[in-house]
Amino acid sequence: EVKNNGKNGYQLFSHEMHQSLMHRLQIEAELREALALGDQLKLYYQPQISSSHGDVVGYEALMRWEHPTKGMLSPYDFIHIAETSGLIIAIGEWALLEACKQAKTLSVSHQHFTRMAVNLSALQFNHASIFDHVKTALEQTSLPPHLLELEITESAIIDNVDDAIVLLNKLKKLGVKLAIDDFGTGYSSLNYLKNFPIDTLKIDKSFVDGIVNNPKDAAIARTIVQLALNLGLSTIAEGVEYTEQHELLKTMGCDGLQGYLFSKPISSDKL
Ligand code: C2E
Ligand code: MG
Ligand code: MG
Ligand code: MG
Repeated sequence: EVKNNGKNGYQLFSHEMHQSLMHRLQIEAELREALALGDQLKLYYQPQISSSHGDVVGYEALMRWEHPTKGMLSPYDFIHIAETSGLIIAIGEWALLEACKQAKTLSVSHQHFTRMAVNLSALQFNHASIFDHVKTALEQTSLPPHLLELEITESAIIDNVDDAIVLLNKLKKLGVKLAIDDFGTGYSSLNYLKNFPIDTLKIDKSFVDGIVNNPKDAAIARTIVQLALNLGLSTIAEGVEYTEQHELLKTMGCDGLQGYLFSKPISSDKL
């Protein structure tokens, strides 16, 4: 069959490759424009609930792109292109400033506010500008640094462990909090929990999903919480959708809860 359709097969493949390249370039150009225009990129905020008293104690900032023709796009639709094009650095700089502004407002109006969490992709974390962007965002908004938490994935750290430890210590000295996002899904190493100044472990949604019906997921979640307790770190569970998950996580001693059970990410005017 390959032989019979060899030529067509080649043309089809090449056509698809062309299409996907054109698609990528188009999104990239539109993203560049969105960043320049300044009103299409948004941060939405998902509440984090204290498992002990049930109040909102913080928010995670999650990016959205209000695309002029395609509607609201999720990070899965554009973050990858932002990374391969390098635009993520400027977009990330914007997001840090925007999240700190919002956090400053919340810190005045909201009694239990303790955290604004901002995601950093591996590329941002490993880019020379990151420390300055964080420092500048804090200075420009006069946000107390301990109210900002940077979420980093295990893979971002593992790319270059020696530089990562230097940067994490500098950020720690600045006073910001540091969280490992999607904990347990990457190259989880107890060694970096020992050596890196981490404050929070975010239990990945994949474990939370199975926590009620799959004893292995429950055992992993329980172990992460115990590990965090023993090391003096806090825990937040992501993707909590059901009351049963909430109750179980609370029993396990998980500090914070985040998920559709409480709220989807919401726009700043609805905060
Ligand atoms: P993440 O940091 O692990 O964020 C959690 C994702 O789970 C978010 O998806 C959130 O909307 C979603 N989520 C929260 N609770 C539930 C739930 O109960 N059920 C379900 N099904 N989903 C839930 P979102 O907003 O689409 O973001 C996806 C990923 O994109 C994030 O994963 C993060 O890695 C990345 N991202 C988002 N905003 C930014 C940003 O400003 N900068 C960078 N570099 N990455 C970002
Ligand atoms: Mg996150
Ligand atoms: Mg996460
Ligand atoms: Mg996740």
